[in-house]
Amino acid sequence: LKSPYHGGHLEVIVGPMFSGKSEELIRRLNRAVIARQRVAVFKPAIDDRYHSTHVASHAGRVTPAIAAHSTAQVRELLRGHGELLDLGEPGLPDVVGFDEAQFFDAGLVPLALELADQGVRVILAGLDLDFRAEPFGVMPDLLSRAESVEKLTAICVVCGAPATRTQRLIGGQPARRGDPVVMVGAAESYEARCRVHHVVGD
Ligand code: ADP
Repeated sequence: LKSPYHGGHLEVIVGPMFSGKSEELIRRLNRAVIARQRVAVFKPAIDDRYHSTHVASHAGRVTPAIAAHSTAQVRELLRGHGELLDLGEPGLPDVVGFDEAQFFDAGLVPLALELADQGVRVILAGLDLDFRAEPFGVMPDLLSRAESVEKLTAICVVCGAPATRTQRLIGGQPARRGDPVVMVGAAESYEARCRVHHVVGD
């Protein structure tokens, strides 16, 4: 699998929910595995312990991953505990993937850059925009620094046009701008929508 880049680099995959970011990440990682490259994949954990899990796409494809609480924890895993990553031998992986990159802390940017400088192919998939259609967390920074950016679209559930945004619904109604990103106990759902049909309540 010959990369067009000489040595390490950053690849970013963005788009709204249901645009196929996880599918595309899994596709790239599978190809690296077929090329016998050593691959490690991380996603943000809800609780504060790391554990093994998987990256799953909405269409049902899965690949093994490690749920990490922080980028410091990812750094620790990559540095000292190669055996936990099941890489077979010490040293950095050839490819490091991150899913749901928008939920990682700001330390993801320096970590991704360091890995790339050390020759690692870093693939980051995440939401470019939050439900208000505002840039999401570390993503703008990663997007500007990446060698390669792929923006995917989903299908707008209202009109069938390419969807670039994620509609957040609470009790079936568009979420309001000021609603907290995490609402405990509320019946929440998300839909892919185009610019015309995306609604943010006041
Ligand atoms: P993401 O990681 O961007 O949320 P996934 O890779 O998990 O996306 O899922 C993409 C899959 O979701 C598509 O291949 C399709 O099967 C399914 N899907 C469900 N709703 C939609 C939609 N509105 N637009 C496009 N794909 C959709």
